Amino acid sequence: MKKHLLFLGPPGAGKGTQAALLSEANSYLHLSTGELLRKEIELHTDLGRTVKDIMNKGELVNDELVLEIVKKNLDKVNKGWILDGYPRNLSQVNSLNDVLLKINQPLEIVFYLDISDEVLVKRLIMRGRKDDNEETIKTRLKIYKDTTEPLIEYYSNLSLLVNINADRDLKTISADIKSKMA
Ligand code: ADP
Repeated sequence: MKKHLLFLGPPGAGKGTQAALLSEANSYLHLSTGELLRKEIELHTDLGRTVKDIMNKGELVNDELVLEIVKKNLDKVNKGWILDGYPRNLSQVNSLNDVLLKINQPLEIVFYLDISDEVLVKRLIMRGRKDDNEETIKTRLKIYKDTTEPLIEYYSNLSLLVNINADRDLKTISADIKSKMA
């Protein structure tokens, strides 16, 4: 069974949902940088204040800030983990590689949630989170295509990538992921 996982895919592909299900089933740490950042905003911390406008516009938070969060959570981890929403660009990939080398826990599998643009936009509008309005969705999808999509090729070249058709319903996707975990 794989213990060090990463979910890749555009906003709305279902990374958070699938990562939560899988981490619960296996008692793994679910590390969602988006969730952790939203929590900072809710708690009105300094970090929350710094990232609030950026997130509401759908832009990416500064690499250093996000890296701090990741380091803090992975530093003393003694169980399996699932990264969700990190890394999002090649610089974050390099930082993550350093962190994982230090803790001696290499990434074992990258699930790429492959979803069509139509299904994606529909899901985001339905979800209705604060950063899910039409304008912000456009920004997030553009950033995804420009900066995150290259990661697919990167992990594919390392033979870590597993493609999951994410146009299907939640349960079908989840069963598919489970079957590919072993
Ligand atoms: P989604 O995948 O649906 O966009 P997330 O919860 O993963 O939702 O991310 C929400 C927002 O949090 C992003 O638009 C971005 O502003 C910020 N964020 C999350 N992860 C990162 C990251 N790794 N680097 C920079 N910003 C991030």
